[in-house]
Amino acid sequence: MAAAAHELAEDHAEVPKEWGKNLVACLTCKLVKTQEQFLDSGCENCVTQSMMGDSDRVLECTTSDFQGLITVLNPGSSWTARWLHVGKCKPGCYALAVAGDDVLSYEEPEIED
Ligand SMILES: [Zn+2]
Repeated sequence: MAAAAHELAEDHAEVPKEWGKNLVACLTCKLVKTQEQFLDSGCENCVTQSMMGDSDRVLECTTSDFQGLITVLNPGSSWTARWLHVGKCKPGCYALAVAGDDVLSYEEPEIED
């Protein structure tokens, strides 16, 4: 069962392999995957969180309480990515806001192009 999800290029974060109640977002970078995927391969952006293989860490570092979902394909050039402060993160699916975030506190981004 474990091998199928690893066919994406290495510089891409995994995308959620299923959409449902198992989806959780990384509290640090807002990457969205299933709890199982975080357990399986950790967070591609937050390797220092050591979530891989540690379900307690996954529970600590992720939340199912998030809002919105966007797919970021080019974090370096996407204004949404800059707005979400994931400009240096890997392409993947990101939550617009996670628990504790005040969505309204985000300032309108300056669009340069
Ligand atoms: Zn993360």
